[in-house]
Amino acid sequence: MGVTARRDTELPERLAEAGRRLGVALTEAMERIRPAVAAVTEVASRPEVKSVLERAEKMLRRRPCLCLCARTHPADAGICEPFDAVITRPHDFDLLGEIDVPLCAPCAAARAAREFSG
Ligand SMILES: [Zn+2]
Ligand SMILES: [Zn+2]
Repeated sequence: MGVTARRDTELPERLAEAGRRLGVALTEAMERIRPAVAAVTEVASRPEVKSVLERAEKMLRRRPCLCLCARTHPADAGICEPFDAVITRPHDFDLLGEIDVPLCAPCAAARAAREFSG
């Protein structure tokens, strides 16, 4: 019977000890990752990293070139800058009629040259 009685009194102590250990472990873990967190924060504030992030943002804001290169200027289909549309030009979609589509500069030039020559 003595065993049961001892367990009852030991349990709160064990829990307290486990809680203390957990607290220490968490504190140690935090201390260990703190340099990593600081490093990430430091890296994100560096000018070269900032410029990369800004470029990525700009890329996301960019408009895709919706030129149908293979149809509208098959001879120069490879010149397209697919994510750098700078102007819109009306394109004659057979079924939908004329619609303004965003075009990149090389595509716009190729179309103009083709219209001019043909
Ligand atoms: Zn094109
Ligand atoms: Zn293009």
